[in-house]
Amino acid sequence: MLTLHRLDQLCSQKKGSGEMTHKQYCTTLLALVRPLRGRCSARLRLICLLLLIPLAPALKAETLALSADRIIIGNQDQPLLDSAVIVEDDKIIRLLRREKIPAGMRIIELGDATLMPGMIDAHTHPLLSTGDYQTNHLAQSSAYKSLRAAAFFQKLVYAGWTGLRVAGDGDVFYGNTDIRRAIDEGFIMGPRMAVANHYLSITGGGGDLNYLSPEQSMIADGLVVDGVDEIRKAVRTEIKYGSDWIKILATGAYLSVGDSPKNVSFSPEEFQAVMDEANRQGVPVMAHAHATAGIKQAVLGGARSIEHGTFLDNEVINLMAAREVWLIPTIYIGDYYALEGGLREDDRNNYYMEHERPVWINWLKKAHKKGVKIGVGLDFGSQGYAPEIFIREFATLVEIGMTPMEAIQAGTRVNAEMLGWDDRLGTLEVGKLADIIAIKGNPLDNIDALKDVSFVMLGGRIIRTPGGQKNPPEGLLQLP
Ligand SMILES: [Zn+2]
Repeated sequence: MLTLHRLDQLCSQKKGSGEMTHKQYCTTLLALVRPLRGRCSARLRLICLLLLIPLAPALKAETLALSADRIIIGNQDQPLLDSAVIVEDDKIIRLLRREKIPAGMRIIELGDATLMPGMIDAHTHPLLSTGDYQTNHLAQSSAYKSLRAAAFFQKLVYAGWTGLRVAGDGDVFYGNTDIRRAIDEGFIMGPRMAVANHYLSITGGGGDLNYLSPEQSMIADGLVVDGVDEIRKAVRTEIKYGSDWIKILATGAYLSVGDSPKNVSFSPEEFQAVMDEANRQGVPVMAHAHATAGIKQAVLGGARSIEHGTFLDNEVINLMAAREVWLIPTIYIGDYYALEGGLREDDRNNYYMEHERPVWINWLKKAHKKGVKIGVGLDFGSQGYAPEIFIREFATLVEIGMTPMEAIQAGTRVNAEMLGWDDRLGTLEVGKLADIIAIKGNPLDNIDALKDVSFVMLGGRIIRTPGGQKNPPEGLLQLP
């Protein structure tokens, strides 16, 4: 009875101030029943809980108005002006004019700022953090890399990135699955994650270590598979250990040694085996593809997204538009390595900047005009980049002919659709989860303003407040 009395006291205090949410109520409830463990039977504890639960509907859910000069909903050409997003618990429940905010409602007034959906990075390799991505996994354990990546993710959330897709990673185990699990279970604060744990590569392909002597027997950074049987087993194993995407290196890569981005990697039978296995288990495939023939193989084979898509042509563009295959070009990383310090094969990078990039940009302009769905992906690891540089991919999309509004939608709604998250994320519509950020000023006037994030909300929880810290404190954080 002491317990009931205490709960009653707490409820009347909290209800009086309008502060207690359903979540707080449940937490309080469990905290109060917990001390009964050992003193009375499980049955009696359950009866206590059942007696207390009917009080819950009387409690108010917390509602909050986020008010700003502009709101980018994510599916309209123009922003809403002088309006507010009303959030209750973890969801958006209304959008209304500023002056219509009900009296007494808690308001966060952001002023000359733009509210928009949290940004989503559709192509990342969070477990790579050293200069040589092909040997990173030999020097660092999966556990170390995962802790490091989780801390880096928290910086990204502070910089406005509330979702990401891992495009395979240099990891012997399945660290990204475990980071996602720790986030989902609430141990740590972090972005929503879609995960391909490894990238499938042929022997001698972009995911193999091609610069070692034949005497060496190393575990490669990619998952090296040859032949239909190995491929089937690899896809099944990826899914068994938590991959919700399959990543395949359909062509050679730029930064690896001993292979060429202009070569197609897998035989038609092998590629089809990837698709068959993934389709049967309802898991989408993302295909790294530079060479035209490799892009075509992946599009016709049924890949959901093409990563990079460097050597496009009219036929491939028409196929991608007709089949509604997403293109994640990851343009900025090429600029970053060519202009700010390359990895391996520097000559290849220079050649790329002078001869290939301008041609590619023209093809991307055509792809955009033809209606190919283009999303935002960075292709970075977690090696100490300033999170602000992640927004530079948006400027490259403006370079290929997108308006700033289209570029912002590419990094929010379009990516959410590709990920199958669009029923709950990607736009600021009623009923969606409240992953909301605010940008100081107007990114529709200057896309680089996206680096000036002033507010971050993740599933209705306020992560970063206006005037608060730009970076998270050192160490891993839990949700507030
Ligand atoms: Zn990549």
